[in-house]
Amino acid sequence: MENIYDIVIVGAGPAGMTAAIYAVRANMKVLLLDRLSPGGQMVNTNEIENYTGAGKLSGADLAIKMFEHTQELGVEFDYKTVIDISNSDSLKTITCEEDDAVYQARAVILATGTVPRRLGVPGEEEWAANGISWCAICDGAQYRDKEVVVIGGGNSAVEESIYLAGICTKLTIVTMFDLTADPKACDQLRKMPNVTIYPYQEVLEFTGTDRITGVRFKSTKEDATERYVTCDGVFEYIGFSASSEAFAKLGIVDRTGCIEADSRMRTSVPGIFGAGDITVKHLRQIVTACSDGAVAANSAAAYVESLKQ
Ligand SMILES: Cc1cc2nc3c(=O)[nH]c(=O)nc-3n(C[C@H](O)[C@H](O)[C@H](O)COP(=O)(O)OP(=O)(O)OC[C@H]3O[C@@H](n4cnc5c(N)ncnc54)[C@H](O)[C@@H]3O)c2cc1C
Repeated sequence: MENIYDIVIVGAGPAGMTAAIYAVRANMKVLLLDRLSPGGQMVNTNEIENYTGAGKLSGADLAIKMFEHTQELGVEFDYKTVIDISNSDSLKTITCEEDDAVYQARAVILATGTVPRRLGVPGEEEWAANGISWCAICDGAQYRDKEVVVIGGGNSAVEESIYLAGICTKLTIVTMFDLTADPKACDQLRKMPNVTIYPYQEVLEFTGTDRITGVRFKSTKEDATERYVTCDGVFEYIGFSASSEAFAKLGIVDRTGCIEADSRMRTSVPGIFGAGDITVKHLRQIVTACSDGAVAANSAAAYVESLKQ
C-alpha cells in the first residue's frame, strides 16, 4: 500500500528533521509531516549563537539549511496537521486534518515541540497577533522607534528583549520573578539604556481602544503597588505548552503533556518514539533536540528491522 512507511515523523523542527536525516540514511522509507513550514521554533528565533560549529546565524537560515539537508537525502515531506495516532499491533495509523489523509507506519517519531503559553488576562485575546506577539523576529520590525513591553524573564524573554531593545525607543520588562535567564544575557540587557525591568509583578490587563495602548500590572510584594505602562506593542514569553493533543490518549505523556521517553527515546508503546522539546527533559535547545532526533531515528530503525525478523 502506497501510504505505508517504515517511519513517519510528526514535526519538522530540528528534532524531526534530524530524525528524518538519520532514518533515511538507515534505508528507511520515511515521511516527515508538519502543519507549518519546516523549522519549528527556529523560524521564530532571531539569532542563534550556540549551535555547535555554526557560529552566529539567524534561526530562519538554520531552518532552511536543515530542511535542504533532508531534501538532498530524499526525505518525503508534506504539510499536514496530525490529529490522531492509533496503535494496532505492528502498524500505527496517523490521521491528518487536511484531505482526510491517513498514513500507516511501522514506527512513529513524535517531535511536535511546544507552543507559547498565554496569561489569560483581559485584553489578551482581543489584541492577540494585533498588538500582542509571541515572536520578536516575526513582528519586531513593526515596532522600530516605538515602545514595547516584554512579559517574562526567562531565556526567551531576555534574548528577544536584547533584540527588541536594539530597535525600539523604550522597552519595559514585566516579570513574575526576577530575570532567570543566562546571567551573561541578563547583564547585557540590564546595561541597555532604554530598558526598565519590573520584577515580581502580576499582569492585570492589556488596554486599548482601536489599538493596544498599555499594560496594567501590580507588585506581588506586600505593597501590591499598581503600575500602568503605555506601549505600542507587547511580546509575551511566559513558557510553553506541549503540543501533544493528537497522541495524549496513548498514555505516553506526563501531567504537563510531555512525552516520557527513555534514554533511547522509546516511549512505553513499542514503535512510538519521542524527540525534542515535546519530551520530558531539562534543557530545551536546538542542539538537544537534534540529539534526541538522531537517537530516536536510530532506535526506530532498529525497531523496524526487528519486525522483519
Ligand atoms: C524565542 C526563542 C528563542 C530561542 N533561541 C534558541 C537559541 O538561541 N538556541 C537554541 O539552541 N535554542 C533556542 N530556542 C529553543 C529551540 O528553538 C527549541 O528547543 C527547538 O526548536 C525544539 O525543537 P523541536 O524540533 O523539538 O520542536 P519545535 O522546534 O517546536 O518543532 C515542532 C514542530 O512540530 C510541528 N507540529 C506540532 N504539532 C503538530 C501536529 N499535530 N501535526 C503536525 N505538525 C505539528 C510544529 O509546527 C513545529 O514545526 C529558542 C526558542 C524560542 C521560542
